[in-house]
Amino acid sequence: MSERFDHAVVGLGALGSAAAMELARRGRSVVGLDRFALGHDRGASHDTSRILRHSYHTPAYVRLTQEAYADWARLERDSATSLVTTVGGLDLFPPDAAIAPKEYVESLEAVGIDFEQLDAREAAARWPEFRLPEGTLVLHQRDAAIVPAAVGTATMQQRAAWHGAVLRPECPVTELADTGGGVRLRTPAGDVEAGSVVVCADAWVNDVLAGVGVELPLETTLEQVTYFRPEDASRFAPERHPLWIWMDDPSYYGFPCYGEPTVKAAQDCGGPTVDPDARTSERDEAMEERLADHVRRVLPGSGDPVRSLRCQYTLTPDRDFVLAPVPGHDSVVVGLGAAHGFKFAPTFGRLLADLAVEGDTTVDVTPFRLDRPALTDPDYAAHWLV
Ligand SMILES: Cc1cc2nc3c(=O)[nH]c(=O)nc-3n(C[C@H](O)[C@H](O)[C@H](O)COP(=O)(O)OP(=O)(O)OC[C@H]3O[C@@H](n4cnc5c(N)ncnc54)[C@H](O)[C@@H]3O)c2cc1C
Repeated sequence: MSERFDHAVVGLGALGSAAAMELARRGRSVVGLDRFALGHDRGASHDTSRILRHSYHTPAYVRLTQEAYADWARLERDSATSLVTTVGGLDLFPPDAAIAPKEYVESLEAVGIDFEQLDAREAAARWPEFRLPEGTLVLHQRDAAIVPAAVGTATMQQRAAWHGAVLRPECPVTELADTGGGVRLRTPAGDVEAGSVVVCADAWVNDVLAGVGVELPLETTLEQVTYFRPEDASRFAPERHPLWIWMDDPSYYGFPCYGEPTVKAAQDCGGPTVDPDARTSERDEAMEERLADHVRRVLPGSGDPVRSLRCQYTLTPDRDFVLAPVPGHDSVVVGLGAAHGFKFAPTFGRLLADLAVEGDTTVDVTPFRLDRPALTDPDYAAHWLV
């Protein structure tokens, strides 16, 4: 027996939940399918916090963040839930940083986003917990905020269900077929027919897209975040301590206290490449020590690690997103966050719904198409640090 819907969504992490929410909000019949339970910790959308910021390396990205802030505000209104905690953010460029501040400064200026440039001494005077090397350039953007990962994803799932979407956890899609003007999805519970499908399966996207002959050059890495317990947590309170990103190689980032008397930090792209179906959830001591060593130098009051958890990055070679239909299969739309997509989740939901319903969208998503060189040229040199 097969069921019929206007749209199916494969994957109910942050991106798929946002797409299901947006499609159902437009009165479409939607089924959302996930191979695991809702809120599971096997993918990329679990844990407490994610960074929402304006500072990015191109004006197009900075403009996209303006959409993101507006869409988070709409989600807060629609769900009557406070989701955005504004704490301010510091981009820290040590001397000879591997990531150049120039693009960030010019992109923020080009879009007209307010920010300040400070040196290490000025920054330490305002945020006394930091110990920054002489010559560090600091960009401060006051709207940088924290959004909740698991809670944000659950909120979008609740809104999707509220608008009538059918959410099916523990129902893996084992096969996808383009039926010409629609799709058929095979699941252990039977087939689903739909006018179109939005595939947001992140680390498993190639398994799902095999049905339409697509294999993307992706790498899944197993990242780790660590929570430290400061002796005096009040010094890291969100009212007085910002989130931060260390713009070098290795690159690190961290948060003020957020709902508990700990500070969270992690390395960006510091984990080993893994098979998402054969990966551990165990703590990696070497990764934790590498991070703790950096935190001890830059934020000495952070205290010792109290817990670490794992989470997956799925990286495109250019670290740009995928927001696009599969060429030759207009009814198959793909959304992939390239390990920096959570802040854009409500926006991606809206844009993916546009693509699924209208075949086009209000924002220029051409940089995120599937036939771009980074995804089609086998000799493309991957670069992940942004
Ligand atoms: C440690 C860490 C820190 C991060 N920090 C930030 C940050 O500060 N700011 C930011 O913007 N982004 C950040 N990100 C990135 C962001 O979290 C991800 O880009 C985003 O969560 C991806 O969401 P997703 O829904 O695409 O993926 P996922 O949450 O992984 O969802 C994919 C879903 O697809 C399901 N699935 C897979 N195969 C199938 C199948 N065959 N059938 C049915 N379902 C299937 C899986 O079960 C899963 O639930 C971070 C990521 C990590 C790991």
